Amino acid sequence: MLVEKNVPLQPYNTFHIVAKAQTLVRIASVADVQTLLADPDLGPAPKFVLGGGSNIVITGDVKPVVLKVEVMGRALVRETSKAFIVEAGAGENWHDFVTWTLDQGYPGLENMALIPGTVGASPVQNVGAYGVELQDRFESLDAVDLQTGQLFTLNAAQCAFGYRDSVFKHGASMAAARVAGAQVAGHQTLGLKDRALIVRVRFALPKAWKAVLGYADIEKKMAEHDCTEPTARQIYDWVCAVRRAKLPDPAVIGNAGSFFKNPTVTAEQCVDIIARDPKVVHYKMDDGSVKLAAGWLIDSCGWKGKSVGQAGVYEKQALVLVNRGAGTDGNGATGGEVMTLAKAIQTSVYERFGILLEPEPVVV
Ligand SMILES: Cc1cc2nc3c(=O)[nH]c(=O)nc-3n(C[C@H](O)[C@H](O)[C@H](O)COP(=O)(O)OP(=O)(O)OC[C@H]3O[C@@H](n4cnc5c(N)ncnc54)[C@H](O)[C@@H]3O)c2cc1C
Repeated sequence: MLVEKNVPLQPYNTFHIVAKAQTLVRIASVADVQTLLADPDLGPAPKFVLGGGSNIVITGDVKPVVLKVEVMGRALVRETSKAFIVEAGAGENWHDFVTWTLDQGYPGLENMALIPGTVGASPVQNVGAYGVELQDRFESLDAVDLQTGQLFTLNAAQCAFGYRDSVFKHGASMAAARVAGAQVAGHQTLGLKDRALIVRVRFALPKAWKAVLGYADIEKKMAEHDCTEPTARQIYDWVCAVRRAKLPDPAVIGNAGSFFKNPTVTAEQCVDIIARDPKVVHYKMDDGSVKLAAGWLIDSCGWKGKSVGQAGVYEKQALVLVNRGAGTDGNGATGGEVMTLAKAIQTSVYERFGILLEPEPVVV
């Protein structure tokens, strides 16, 4: 366990917001967490678990002890008749892991290539892209209880996955209501926000692999390549190419990807919204609800290209907020500017469409 003081966090968040961690502890194993919890000063202190920092907005120096997860390793741990069960340490880079699974001959994660961040954070918001979500490939995970130091394992049902949602995003009472009566590793309720540090995640990658298609960008690539049955590697390459063309590279311009979730409304609400603007981009879901494109709602309120201080709305995609400053010289956006911009966007979308957009990143 390595303990550092006054650590600059700019390299550890993809918005490149300038801030410091008063105390940062690098966690490379379960034993590191248990040593930390036994420490008389660090053990009882509030804690914040940090992965790759690609889904957070830092609004000032971070007082809770930052636990930087660096648990490594990836392996095929088991085979069933239907799937390869592959495990990765929480500190592994997600995209490198996806690439490795393909190289090993275990396809299934290719639609989620190039999502920034770590394997350990992937269950937290049930990451997803191009028609596949983490929950579609998830087997189980191991986590350490940050209060007791106990190691426990959760299956998919216990993680209570939803759209960009899981048990790790909710406090105890809320999760108990969502999964009534469930019990996890001795916990009375399932709310694990700020309670669990995920150390390892296992994925079930289907032996009878089938391409997940249907997204316009992928269909376009299929047409361009005159291909009706793409391989997993082709889908991987196309997803990477499309993402590189559409999304700002955090190494070049600070951002946290999509800043708001796509809101879901009832069919009746959607009729009302279409009456306000017939061009609203929407997708019918299997359960009868309708998902609206948050980027379209923001764009139609005139936000594309606008700024608050050095925080701005990306010119090519209104769903992405960016840091327009270089950052290193202190001229970059502050977390306060990002959140002020986010709140102004929420207000104008609410006033025009009656919909409250929900931010995706975690505010620290
Ligand atoms: C350019 C760009 C594109 C993106 N595209 C997508 C996309 O297509 N789909 C998508 O779903 N997301 C996308 N994201 C968001 C982001 O990549 C994911 O949310 C990712 O899983 C965050 O990983 P991280 O390691 O950076 O987490 P962090 O930002 O470090 O942390 C996010 C949250 O997870 C918690 N956490 C992190 N690690 C652990 C752990 N080991 N145990 C417990 N809690 C933990 C943190 O406390 C925090 O609450 C994008 C982001 C960017 C910058």
